[in-house]
Amino acid sequence: MTSQATRLDIDLDAIAANWRLLRNRHGAGATSAVVKADGYGLGAIPVARRLHTEGCRHFFVAHLTEALALRPHVPGALLATLNGLWPGDARDHAAHEIVPVLGSLAEITAWADEAARRDRALPALLHVDTGMNRLGLDSQELAVLCDQPERLQGIRLLYVMTHLVSPELPGDPVNRAQLDRFQRACAALPAAPHSLAASSGLFLGEAYRSDLSRPGAALYGLNPTPGQPNPMRPVVRLRARVLQVREIGAGERVGYNGIWQAERRSRIATVSVGYADGYSRHLSNNGQAFFDGAPLPLVGRVSMDLSTFDATDHPAVAPGAWLDLMGDGQTPDDIARRAGTNGYEVLTRLGHRFGRRYLPG
Ligand SMILES: *Cc1c(COP(=O)(O)O)cnc(C)c1O
Repeated sequence: MTSQATRLDIDLDAIAANWRLLRNRHGAGATSAVVKADGYGLGAIPVARRLHTEGCRHFFVAHLTEALALRPHVPGALLATLNGLWPGDARDHAAHEIVPVLGSLAEITAWADEAARRDRALPALLHVDTGMNRLGLDSQELAVLCDQPERLQGIRLLYVMTHLVSPELPGDPVNRAQLDRFQRACAALPAAPHSLAASSGLFLGEAYRSDLSRPGAALYGLNPTPGQPNPMRPVVRLRARVLQVREIGAGERVGYNGIWQAERRSRIATVSVGYADGYSRHLSNNGQAFFDGAPLPLVGRVSMDLSTFDATDHPAVAPGAWLDLMGDGQTPDDIARRAGTNGYEVLTRLGHRFGRRYLPG
């Protein structure tokens, strides 16, 4: 059972429209969908099923456990694990037709061994690190592999991929440097299709197109071009009903530690959303909700299960009234700015006590 006092609406039509927009930007190459972290908090299974019916045939998650849960819902599609092969995971990948993104010589060896055990070629992506310094073959491992391509024996290389460090900053020279490094790496490796851009990379220009793009955030309505108008359709709407309205006098304080003090006689509206629902505690004295399009400041601390808003100027705000917390009036990116984080974190933290509703129903 989820709460009747909150509602999280997720617009699958908007996600589908966003996927088509990104696909059309990408030219001839295929467009995948990154649905890691439960589809950026929105539900990997409903999102992937919808995109599968749109024609999406490439899906990425981070972990094997995520892939195992999703595998039956995207029949025939490539389903790959970005975080690669943990020791011992090769068997489950092969048994369930989950494709690892290989990011080290050790992972290549483990996958080649699995192929030999099964006496058949196994598909994989190969991740080359071009500047993130996080996952993927570093320059030394890349040199070894280019020298000894027989290490890939038994591995069917579907794509060579890399990941950009700052694609949302088009003026950052690291983008071009990574592109150059990637092209040099691909030229030295056995021939295979390439995979490069995620959401923001698709807006860097034609040079960043590849055989397979990997957008996540933009599918879910986050702005891939910060500082410029958002080309994506909004996807998420979070609302909560007012539980109680409190009248307090001037000088009274609200919530833990009394960090907000009323300067006048005030009406305080309380809703059942708190930091346990991913509604950041950094929004204390700093967030806002909307009622009929008008902003109500969040006053006092966000607590675990509750937040409080100043409804003094809105006499129609009464118990049972719906306040808009996300989507109407403010985007996840707007909330992220107030909370000192990014829209990715705002979405992936959305809790599971909300009544999730997928539109169209
Ligand atoms: C998360 C991730 C993506 C998707 O990035 P977005 O910015 O959400 O589009 C693509 N590739 C890799 C390797 C990732 O880790």
